[in-house]
Amino acid sequence: MPKNKLNHDTAVVEVIALSGFDKALAYAVPPTCQATLQLGSLVRIPLRRRSELGVVLRFGTDQVVPPGKLKMLFEVVQPYPVLTPDLMELYRWAQKYYAATPEAILETMIPAAIRKGMKPKTRRYISKGKAPTVEELETLEKRAPKQAAILKFIRQQVKPLPRADILKAMKISASACDSLVAKGYLHETDTEEERVAYEDELGDQESVVVETRPVLTEEQDAAVRAIHDAITADVFSVRLLHGVTGSGKTEVYLNAIEKIVAEGGGVIFLVPEVALAPQTVGRVRARLEARGVHTVVWHSHLSEGERYDAWKALASGEAHVVVGARSAVFAPVQNLKLMIVDEEHEPSYKQEESPRYNGRDVAVFRAHLNKSVCVLGSATPSLESLYNVERGKYAVDRILKRVDHRQLPKIHLVDMRREALQGKGASPISRTLANKLVDRFEKKEQSILFLNRRGFSTSILCPDCGYVASCKHCSIPMTFHRTDGKLRCHLCGEQREAPLKCPECQSINIRKKGLGTQKIEDIVQKILPRAKIVRMDADSMSKKNLYRKILNDFRIGKIDLLVGTQMIAKGLDFPNVTLVGLVDADKSLHVEDFRAAERTFQLIVQVSGRSGRGDRAGEVVIQTSTPHAPPIQFARKSDFDGFQLEELEQRREFNYPPFRHLIRHLFRGRNPDKVNFYIEQWLKVLDQEMEGQLEVRGPAPAPIEKIRDEYRFQLWYFAPSASRVIGKLVALRQQFKMDKEVIDLIDVDPMNMS
Ligand code: ADP
Ligand code: ZN
Ligand code: ZN
Repeated sequence: MPKNKLNHDTAVVEVIALSGFDKALAYAVPPTCQATLQLGSLVRIPLRRRSELGVVLRFGTDQVVPPGKLKMLFEVVQPYPVLTPDLMELYRWAQKYYAATPEAILETMIPAAIRKGMKPKTRRYISKGKAPTVEELETLEKRAPKQAAILKFIRQQVKPLPRADILKAMKISASACDSLVAKGYLHETDTEEERVAYEDELGDQESVVVETRPVLTEEQDAAVRAIHDAITADVFSVRLLHGVTGSGKTEVYLNAIEKIVAEGGGVIFLVPEVALAPQTVGRVRARLEARGVHTVVWHSHLSEGERYDAWKALASGEAHVVVGARSAVFAPVQNLKLMIVDEEHEPSYKQEESPRYNGRDVAVFRAHLNKSVCVLGSATPSLESLYNVERGKYAVDRILKRVDHRQLPKIHLVDMRREALQGKGASPISRTLANKLVDRFEKKEQSILFLNRRGFSTSILCPDCGYVASCKHCSIPMTFHRTDGKLRCHLCGEQREAPLKCPECQSINIRKKGLGTQKIEDIVQKILPRAKIVRMDADSMSKKNLYRKILNDFRIGKIDLLVGTQMIAKGLDFPNVTLVGLVDADKSLHVEDFRAAERTFQLIVQVSGRSGRGDRAGEVVIQTSTPHAPPIQFARKSDFDGFQLEELEQRREFNYPPFRHLIRHLFRGRNPDKVNFYIEQWLKVLDQEMEGQLEVRGPAPAPIEKIRDEYRFQLWYFAPSASRVIGKLVALRQQFKMDKEVIDLIDVDPMNMS
């Protein structure tokens, strides 16, 4: 008998309620549940006079429950445990580390469809049961001719038939069928069917991924062998796969996955963006399906049915591999032996609402719990990971050459200050870039233009007095939408007519500051009147099919030029793209964020990486007003080590992450004095209770000072170890009495500083 099954004499279990009861509670297990109940099972329990959900954390109890007071749990909701033993540990750790409520973490770990007690999709079949006697059949024909007809029909069949189809075809009511079943003349059986996400999409001709197995390059091979050795060692280890863009990192991941599944192990493969999941799952399936290995996809856009089926396939051990976005790090994979985090530097791994976890860091911790291997891959690794390599915590495998001897693209910097001096009304597209765009179009090669999303705005600015159209409720400029001539706030949705004259100085020179993808599209269309140009922005990203259609049209050459923000840059692999332009490289440098330089370096390297992935060499044009800024210079030379050294030096000097952990404590409220009053009170508590354990900076207004009429201030805590201080911090905060009109949040290892 498996050791996680209940033993009959310990028919008492401890359950933690999902609704966030601090303490696990003891319950008796009714005999009907004893066969299905396991450690980690989701159960329905009586609590606070209601029926609630909980997870079985342990068998037996040390709690002293007065006789007769022990309540009986109601039922086991799912036939498989919702938390594997490692997930239970992970839950305890993540809840504490990210200062989250048990409820928030458990709801993230256990998808809604599972909590609702969703069942597999089944199809009901009918087949013949006991044979009626001649008299019985005659009576039936007289009293219920329809029943007789269906009975006769079914008796002629050899195989069970779908009930719904028969009822429809013979125009017979469900009750007629039910009554035959009740009499035993017919049998009904339910068969499970799986809803496979992306089946439709992978069924498309153009997105079918053909299984190809390229000969590994020397560097790929070395990386694969190092990862295989780490897997064989069977201990916890983290390997950073630092491979330049187009170096074939995916091929390395696939080889590692193959080894694991051949040994019966499970794999979690994280990608930074929902939109990338289908493409990646296609490649993994193409490689593994032939071996009968089932791969599921996991992200927030799945329907509940798809989610349930993916969950069940993993929890039952039928599927061993999951590819997904952030939340897949909590998927119930059995015998988990390998975690892969692609583009590990991506801020999208951090969840910006509670629980504020970082999928990459949780992956590392989960690998640690399972004594297994975690591979973090990137062309531009985060400073955190590079520092972990430097101090020997992570191993590194580097791939410095692109596959097939392809060159890294040549990067040109264009100084936009000089462009502006040379008149012509300072077009946002420099002549260098314009000429190259024309050249590519004539050669029938493709180009991509990127706009920096950071600080990217299409607001209204008066050149005469400096007036900027800002939202009344939030301290940010409003976005101008040309389609309807309105200004909108992307934080609160406030909208109003755009002014024709400056409201401050009445100047009619008021015009747009910043560049929208739409404006760039118009300008470029004038440069290339005959080219097919398509814009890709947040709107097209949210429409799943439009996004796929655009990328596909681009792939087959129906589109000459793609214009979009960097959010479309991730993972694009188009061999015919030989020119990439970054229209405004500086935007990300001028944000209030200690990672501004790191982000800018990553952005330039990543967008450049989209160029020259085929047989022809690629070129990149970076437009900037600060061409000498170090991240821009290092990126131009693809000097990773140089950038890393200098940036680490800066961080060390200011004692910023990765040298210490950072915790952000944000306070907000409609009355700024009140907010500040409570911050001051709280600071006194910290002073008394945590002296010497944290360095506190602030309070300071948040970069976005006001959102929806609420003023925002923040404190920064620096500490050598977040896990060592967070427990105490949270406990103090729970005891601290704060006004109801002041809301605060604690963000551990924040990515977003605004
Ligand atoms: P990265 O993620 O490192 O940017 P990819 O894994 O997307 O790169 O690989 C880039 C392209 O090179 C893909 O089309 C891939 O199929 C191809 N490729 C990978 N490894 C090899 C190899 N050893 N030989 C030839 N082509 C390869
Ligand atoms: Zn003005
Ligand atoms: Zn607003």
